[in-house]
Amino acid sequence: MSEKTDVVIIGAGPVGLFAIFELGLLNIRCHVIDNLSKAGGQCSELYPDKPIYDIPARHTITGQELTEELIKQSKPFNPIFHLNQQVEIIKKLESGNWKIETTSGTILEAKCIVIAAGAGSFVPRKPPIDNIDKFENKNIFYSIKELTMFKNKKILIAGGGDSALDWTNELAKIANVTLIHRRKEFRASPDSVSKMIDLQNKNKIEFIIGQIKKIFEGKNRNISILYENDKKELLSFQSDYLLPFYGLKMELGPIANWGLNLNENLIKVDTEKFETSIPSIFAIGDINTYPGKLKLILSGFHEAALMAQQCFKYCFPQKKNIFRYTTSSKDLHKKLGV
Ligand code: FAD
Repeated sequence: MSEKTDVVIIGAGPVGLFAIFELGLLNIRCHVIDNLSKAGGQCSELYPDKPIYDIPARHTITGQELTEELIKQSKPFNPIFHLNQQVEIIKKLESGNWKIETTSGTILEAKCIVIAAGAGSFVPRKPPIDNIDKFENKNIFYSIKELTMFKNKKILIAGGGDSALDWTNELAKIANVTLIHRRKEFRASPDSVSKMIDLQNKNKIEFIIGQIKKIFEGKNRNISILYENDKKELLSFQSDYLLPFYGLKMELGPIANWGLNLNENLIKVDTEKFETSIPSIFAIGDINTYPGKLKLILSGFHEAALMAQQCFKYCFPQKKNIFRYTTSSKDLHKKLGV
């Protein structure tokens, strides 16, 4: 069963979030899909604590603060978020609407699609092992959605960044955890590192210096992980689960298969409506290209405002769109709850 809405926004980065607001001012309802577990795109994933200096009227604002402000600004319009899922398939229906399907089985029907997908989906960096896909979502997971499945299990966590160390410290409370990293220096925050060392000193976790080389099926539905230690010896480790946390990379992903006019993985749009080569599909923010494009957050905000004007025509073909300022329109104040 699909749920109907006016617009589906693909990508909950800063530009997708601001699009909710601009569409909301015009009475256009949105669902927002992102394959990360939280909104904010590059701002919250890549530089949450870094100050940004070129957001108009904000002397400085961090990536995370900007995300939180944008979420707050979009609240009056009650957007519905579908996180942890990637949009895989879009299909034109006979009615003229779009059917949008995600990797988690969410099915939506909308009059317009707004692609605000940045540089594509954030996907996990995987260990370079040939048959790794055979064990994925059975013994190998790149993110944790349900903690209870790891209770009293034997787990090998791989990596040296914040995710690897934070999950080592957290899962040590309920499971038998070993951390494997190629060296004894870590990229994680000093606080997480000292917590991990403390657990190791108390024999609550084990730490191995090594690199994973191969994975085999083990006994009783577990896996056998072959790794090379710091003395170049090959050793085997039996585990229920392997959790590699090697960070994220960005990939265009399924967008490449949607028949859009692409130029070096960017979607070509016009600069009047930010519409793609397919009517009623728009592309805003870092994912689009046009002469003079600047990959800046403020450019994406401007694109969202103009895109919304054209979306209105698709969503309410019988209605006239009357331009109004947020400062003086009583109708807009009502919508914003001010
Ligand atoms: P993104 O922020 O990339 O968000 C896109 C979202 O779409 C992602 O969350 C992704 O997971 C999701 N997505 C993609 N494909 C799919 C799919 N198929 N299904 C579901 N979800 C999908 N800009 C400035 O203006 N000022 C600065 O000072 C500045 N500093 C920066 C510093 C750093 C270190 C970096 C990396 C960037 C900086 N930028 C700066 C650039 C700015 O972050 C980007 O321009 C901005 O994030 C683009 O926003 P977006 O919403 O278009 O895309």
